[in-house]
Amino acid sequence: MLLPMMFSGFGNLEPMDPIRYDEFKRYVVEGRVAWVQLAPTEIRGAYVPEKKPPPRQPKVQRPDRFATGRVEDEGLVAFLEAHHVPFRAVQPSPWAEQWPWMLYLLLTVGLLVFVWGGVLRRMNAGPSGALAFGKSRGRFYTEKDVGVTFDDVAGVEEAKEELREIIQFLREPDKYRRLGARIPKGVLLVGPPGTGKTLLARAVAGEAEVPFISISGSEFVEMFVGVGAARVRDLFEQAAKAAPCIVFIDEIDALGRSRASAHLGGVGTNEEREQTLQQLLVEMDGFEPHHAVIIMAATNRPEVLDPALLRPGRFDRQIVVDRPDRRGRLAILRVHARKVPLEDDVDLEEIATRTPGFAGADLANLVNEAALLAARAGREKVTMEDFSKAIDRVVAGIEKKSRIVTEEERRRVAYHEVGHALCSVLAGADDRVHKISIVPRGMGALGFTMQLPTEDRYLMTQSAIRARLVGLLGGRAAERLVFGEVSTGAQDDLRKATDIARAMVAEYGMSERVGPLAVGAERRPVFLQGREGSGVAVPRGEVGDRLADVIDEEVRKILDEAEARADDYLRAARDDLEHIAARLLEVEVLEGAQLDELLDAAARRYAERQRVDETGSGPMA
Ligand code: ADP
Ligand code: MG
Ligand code: ZN
Repeated sequence: MLLPMMFSGFGNLEPMDPIRYDEFKRYVVEGRVAWVQLAPTEIRGAYVPEKKPPPRQPKVQRPDRFATGRVEDEGLVAFLEAHHVPFRAVQPSPWAEQWPWMLYLLLTVGLLVFVWGGVLRRMNAGPSGALAFGKSRGRFYTEKDVGVTFDDVAGVEEAKEELREIIQFLREPDKYRRLGARIPKGVLLVGPPGTGKTLLARAVAGEAEVPFISISGSEFVEMFVGVGAARVRDLFEQAAKAAPCIVFIDEIDALGRSRASAHLGGVGTNEEREQTLQQLLVEMDGFEPHHAVIIMAATNRPEVLDPALLRPGRFDRQIVVDRPDRRGRLAILRVHARKVPLEDDVDLEEIATRTPGFAGADLANLVNEAALLAARAGREKVTMEDFSKAIDRVVAGIEKKSRIVTEEERRRVAYHEVGHALCSVLAGADDRVHKISIVPRGMGALGFTMQLPTEDRYLMTQSAIRARLVGLLGGRAAERLVFGEVSTGAQDDLRKATDIARAMVAEYGMSERVGPLAVGAERRPVFLQGREGSGVAVPRGEVGDRLADVIDEEVRKILDEAEARADDYLRAARDDLEHIAARLLEVEVLEGAQLDELLDAAARRYAERQRVDETGSGPMA
């Protein structure tokens, strides 16, 4: 036990309550934390005595101090400040700096101890000192009854729907077994921080009334090679005993980082990660449906995960848990407002409207801040003014982490997205627009328009491609029409449009001037594969400078024409543009029948106007 403590900078051996990082943050929010010490790899602190969380196991007293592994969290300091929790840094003790060789020595000894432990284990030597050492660091938690249900999770209805099948299975595994139904073994929850992934996983256990065994990915990744793998084995042993149950691995990216992208994070970290991951894969493959163990994991960085984790039979079911739209925020506010007495003037709808981009955790935080303000003022109930002040505070906190979208930007994004949707429909593009959203999602895209092909298509006609280009350029056209100038927001659209236009000219022989030549270096059709590639490179050397110039001109012409058409459509359908954008600003997400109706109406009005307009000044379809 001594070694890791010296590394983390703490020397004392007081009893510690090992908690998860998300619990730590929740306790801070709930005002249960008196102070904390921040060490490079660990956070320790004390509970406020009278607010100490209740013990997990009824018979055991919870220690006054807690410890948790340190998670990459840029906003931690701001978070602690916002909640007025005093904190200070703890450095590794000074002798460690003066005598670095001693560290090396100890490390070597530690490694030896582990190799020895591994040997003992392989020899089936039963529990030994070394083994117990590995075991005692196995910080996973088994909760018999999580006390959380789907009623506590709001605004993520789709995710809940997808998880119902799993709950059914855990409730009556025999029924499913008899039918030979295939149930996913691993479920990966993907979404930005604070959207309720951990909460959802717990709620699944609560709904199914099965034990919840959890561990954080960051706790796997230790200094010593072999500890993580041993921990994984213990974890799954435990799970097999507790079945039916849920095993939950939070922040799985910490351990499942793709082997290619893993960078050196410290002594032996890479190899350790590798071994731990390997062990996890082995254990997962070993679990059969009859074990009735569902393995859930969460991440906000799916792009760094090792692809091996996502193969069939592992985490092959992925569920997106996204930031809530206005309706979702209202639902979440209702959940959290259940616990605080509200004054009559509190209008949760209004609060939901004023908090775009807030995740569930931000909203929980907001309700708590408002309650604190009311308590400080000695009021019995929380007022709307408390909420207003709390919004400002929470926004300030979020602003440090990520950018908050201004009202002006929201308007711009709304028009941009509606521009895409309207132009696609009016141009008769056969990709149906089925969702437009202006819910901010992190740094990249401020909004998006989702288009699905209406049917599987292997061939696209020239006019269909042109219609698609009109839709792509519609966002930019709408911005120019409404705001008088364009913004950087259309960069991605332009890239895609240019790729497509270039392919038309250089790959598909769709330009009169260039003729039926295929001069692209790459034969991959850009649309037919769904995902947009990096475009079709036309090597100038092969083509000849003159032809290359002609190709450029033709590409330009196609794009100019598409843009002009987008412009015309939006001018003609300006009323609908305004109307739909206003609607979108209000509800943030438009989809399904509601969106179909709006777009169909716009298309009908447009067609009528064209018929009446005999002067023929309308755009050519
Ligand atoms: P994540 O794991 O996605 O980072 P958490 O599940 O840890 O998010 O959420 C932290 C807290 O925020 C939860 O304990 C809960 O109080 C609140 N919260 C987050 N999402 C929701 C939601 N969809 N509904 C209700 N509360 C939520
Ligand atoms: Mg979490
Ligand atoms: Zn766009």
